[in-house]
Amino acid sequence: MKPSIIVHGGAWDIPDVLVEPHERGCELAATAGHDLLLAGGSAVDAVVEAVAIMEDDSTFDAGVGSVLNQSGQVELDAIVMDGKSLRSGAVAAIQFVRNPVRIARNIMERTNHSMLVGDGALDFAVKEGFERCTIEDLLVGRELEDYREFMRTGVMGTKRHFSGVGDTVGACAIDREGHVACATSTGGIPRKPAGRVGDSPLVGCGAYADDGVGAVSATGWGEQIMAVVMSKTTIDIKRTVSDPITACKNAIAVLKERVDGFGGVIMVDIHGKVGYCHSTPRMAFAFVEGVSSERRVSTSM
Ligand code: ASP
Repeated sequence: MKPSIIVHGGAWDIPDVLVEPHERGCELAATAGHDLLLAGGSAVDAVVEAVAIMEDDSTFDAGVGSVLNQSGQVELDAIVMDGKSLRSGAVAAIQFVRNPVRIARNIMERTNHSMLVGDGALDFAVKEGFERCTIEDLLVGRELEDYREFMRTGVMGTKRHFSGVGDTVGACAIDREGHVACATSTGGIPRKPAGRVGDSPLVGCGAYADDGVGAVSATGWGEQIMAVVMSKTTIDIKRTVSDPITACKNAIAVLKERVDGFGGVIMVDIHGKVGYCHSTPRMAFAFVEGVSSERRVSTSM
């Protein structure tokens, strides 16, 4: 099996000046994940590494560069799912960690649980040997300014505001053994209330992987994505169509038809073909498709 990987760096109206860092960040992550797969790494290894690279890149709203909530905190959500076992691990509203996706992996592989939240998730991370960081380690000027603007104007995160920000990251991969996996990580939507958890860490919503079909990661307005269980819906649609791009398009159509939602979705199927679709003006994504040897980095379809 020739391995494939696809990553995304959020779906929104990415301004022209931010296109290059988004594309570069996605390309670096996809290339690193693909190199790991070529070296015999598992799909789980590849998606965790690709997402961790994007968490470390302050371009994106995940790990370093995440948005602040209304209380001036950085609360992070992340998930990883293994299509072989259907096991998943997730953290939600966790503070003071750089790479929530790595903690999600440890939950999946080293506990009998699927999700830990808040302080409990942080306690687990510290016990597992992850370094506790400060909010300053995660905060970038762009987000501090946005927060100060929020404090000044009191304008809440709205659907309209969301169309301006949404740099959640995700990855889907298939390895040489034919196993699939996916991961998604986010700081959530800007100006969210403290404790708000979106779709990203929820199994079936922000991500889903099943060795019988493929792996999916979604991005967009979380409450709408949750309403249509977007990632699992994409998997179910893929059972009825042969092409993953068609599956992604049909899933985005469901989001629009059922909840007037918008966002983006990426997928890899069990033949190593990739799919992607977004209803936002742009979505940053990059892929290396083993079956066709195609590589692509883009912010539009
Ligand atoms: N889905 C994320 C959330 O609602 C945001 C995003 O994808 O940009 O938390």
